[in-house]
Amino acid sequence: MKAWLQRWRSRRRLTCEDVNRFLAAYLDGALDAHTQAAFEAHLQDCDDCQAYLDQYRKTIELARQAADVPEPPPALIEHTLSFLRKRLFEEPPFNA
Ligand SMILES: [Zn+2]
Repeated sequence: MKAWLQRWRSRRRLTCEDVNRFLAAYLDGALDAHTQAAFEAHLQDCDDCQAYLDQYRKTIELARQAADVPEPPPALIEHTLSFLRKRLFEEPPFNA
């Protein structure tokens, strides 16, 4: 088990960083019930992560529409998400 996952399980609370990690699994419906509940609880209290999730969904949606193909261009999604991650999770003082 990954160290961060172990830490999270002992803590039973999600940080913004955790939400970032679980996002893809969440949208795939791949989280277990407990993790999903914790994920959604964090989202309710965290505007930053709500905004991130919204942007994530919109990015995928827009890429699909623009390309008019079943799969959005992975490079476009990765580029946009990297930008968002940087803004939301790496650049201080976002929560200052
Ligand atoms: Zn958050």
